[in-house]
Amino acid sequence: MPKQRKDCLFCSIAREGAYVHKAKGFVAINDINPKAPVHVLVIPEHHVDTFRDVGDFDARESKRMLEFVAETAEKVGLTDYRVLINVGASAGQTVFHLHWHILGGGPGSGADVPSTVATAEAEL
Ligand code: 5GP
Ligand code: ZN
Repeated sequence: MPKQRKDCLFCSIAREGAYVHKAKGFVAINDINPKAPVHVLVIPEHHVDTFRDVGDFDARESKRMLEFVAETAEKVGLTDYRVLINVGASAGQTVFHLHWHILGGGPGSGADVPSTVATAEAEL
């Protein structure tokens, strides 16, 4: 059983949600507040607060996570897209359970994607 937090929104969503894609250990959902025509979040079931803690994943899980990101983009019909992670509050992270943003689907696909999905003003 992957490590989970009772009080974590994305742990709950990983257990039960309206998935666009699912595989063992990972789910993908549509972002509730999309910043691009297609905006999907990839969420590992295993809780870590941020990408800083990616070392908690073993080698196999890490590889599967990357493959799942690519599979999800393909599944939602994207060939060109942007993948990003906000790491830390001042970089725009608002949910402290690791997740990957996949953004795309603009005209010609990939063109009209914002350079950031930070919900707070990021000062990097
Ligand atoms: P962050 O700002 O942490 O990088 O990304 C969090 C993302 O989660 C935001 O893009 C926000 O719109 C999305 N989000 C927050 N709460 C929910 C929710 O309850 N359901 C879904 N589908 N997305 C959510
Ligand atoms: Zn969590």
